[in-house]
Amino acid sequence: MTKLVIIGGGPAGNSCATYAARFGAEVTMIEDQIVGGAAHLLDCVPSKAMIATGGAMAFLRRSEGMGLADVEPRIDLSALRHRLDGIQDRLCRSTTSLLESQGVRIVNGRGSLLGPNLVRVTTADGEEDIEADVIVLSTGSRPRIPDWCAADGSRVLTTRHAYPPPEIPEHLVVVGSGVTGVEFVHMFQSFGSEVTLIVSRQQVLPGKDPEVAAVLEENFIERGVNLLKGARATSIEASGSAVVVTCDDGRVVNGSHALLAIGSIPNGDGLGLEEVGVETTWGYVDVDADCRSSVPSIFAAGDLSGKLPLSSVASMQGRKIAETIMGRATHGLNQVDYDKAASAIFTEPEIADVGMAEADAFAEGRKIRVTKVPFATSAKALINDDPRGFIKIISDPATGVVLGGSIVGRHAAELIAVVSIAVTAGLTVRDLYDSLLVHPTLAEVITDAAE
Ligand SMILES: Cc1cc2nc3c(=O)[nH]c(=O)nc-3n(C[C@H](O)[C@H](O)[C@H](O)COP(=O)(O)OP(=O)(O)OC[C@H]3O[C@@H](n4cnc5c(N)ncnc54)[C@H](O)[C@@H]3O)c2cc1C
Repeated sequence: MTKLVIIGGGPAGNSCATYAARFGAEVTMIEDQIVGGAAHLLDCVPSKAMIATGGAMAFLRRSEGMGLADVEPRIDLSALRHRLDGIQDRLCRSTTSLLESQGVRIVNGRGSLLGPNLVRVTTADGEEDIEADVIVLSTGSRPRIPDWCAADGSRVLTTRHAYPPPEIPEHLVVVGSGVTGVEFVHMFQSFGSEVTLIVSRQQVLPGKDPEVAAVLEENFIERGVNLLKGARATSIEASGSAVVVTCDDGRVVNGSHALLAIGSIPNGDGLGLEEVGVETTWGYVDVDADCRSSVPSIFAAGDLSGKLPLSSVASMQGRKIAETIMGRATHGLNQVDYDKAASAIFTEPEIADVGMAEADAFAEGRKIRVTKVPFATSAKALINDDPRGFIKIISDPATGVVLGGSIVGRHAAELIAVVSIAVTAGLTVRDLYDSLLVHPTLAEVITDAAE
């Protein structure tokens, strides 16, 4: 029987453990905190839960358009904390019981490599060495804290201090305008904080389709978010009830709190990577298309693999590793196609995309057909009193095969699933517009855009 030891119980480790056990492996999962990983406890789930609360507040504030009057929501921090704890608890318990039902042995402790087939786990009771045919490393990542500031968790926060923070900031200065930064801007502005966003380039969401980023910037400006463009923070000083953020061009922002959203670093320290000969780049484990490291018996998945840092990608990598090591891989289907990963930004409006972007096509000199339909044409968008945004479909002009798409607007993260399935399954625009959807729905705009 294949003996598999997994270090790290986030989405990558859990999915690998569940599938490998289902395929007949003897699986041990080592997790030093709570099964569910940072995804459930510290990153995706609590941030999305807070955004949902902020979204409800923002919606109620706009409720006049729905025919309501005098609705002024107020945040209750202890109820919010209770809500977050409840969601995390349920998710972590259901993940643990799924693993246990598959016969996975869960060991609460810190794992490290002693050799290509040997893992040491240090628990509250001592040490145990476990032999393995295959080892999967899925220890995730944590927020990057630069050496020019100290995150004290009270005035200077990382995302992990914010679920929820000790108090709702009066004026939050967010450093970093990537996906995480803009989501926290949206979240705290919805809660009623004044927010300043420090944007190191001239566009929020650097690297995103400029048309998409422009919709978000417009929304931020409308909501009174201060955008400080072309500035890099170089120091954050906290004193008393204030923070002072200084930028490289000499500009200074005074706020009540600062939040760092400038990327993450891999949790590879103390794992024994170098000692066992696992090659890394900037601390991320180098992996091939099967997620195998430079040591053939050791795989890496999730954020530690340095591929796309998404929970969905981590789970898929975990499942593919299980299929590979248990001989279940179907030829050509056992590797993750990162180019087809859908992703979303949970702002207002939401932003989601999948597959080829217009800019990629131009860079490759590839001919594409782009069709775009605004939500303003949709009956459902008007019923929702939210006609912002659009759906864009990118297809091959010769074959009609759907190559990608972007959605900006309410429920974009849900709606992109349709385009995502089309991209993965190689469906054509004709397949989309021949589909008979429910009326009135926002999804109808996808078929309109495919026409
Ligand atoms: C603010 C924020 C919001 C995000 N939102 C989204 C989102 O909406 N959608 C999305 O798809 N992705 C999102 N992500 C990214 C997502 O959280 C990560 O990609 C995902 O958690 C990676 O999963 P993982 O399995 O690699 O590791 P993790 O979820 O980080 O889990 C790793 C686990 O390993 C354990 N561990 C670490 N070292 C050891 C050790 N030596 N021994 C034992 N256990 C160890 C840790 O305790 C942890 O439980 C977000 C990230 C952030 C920062």
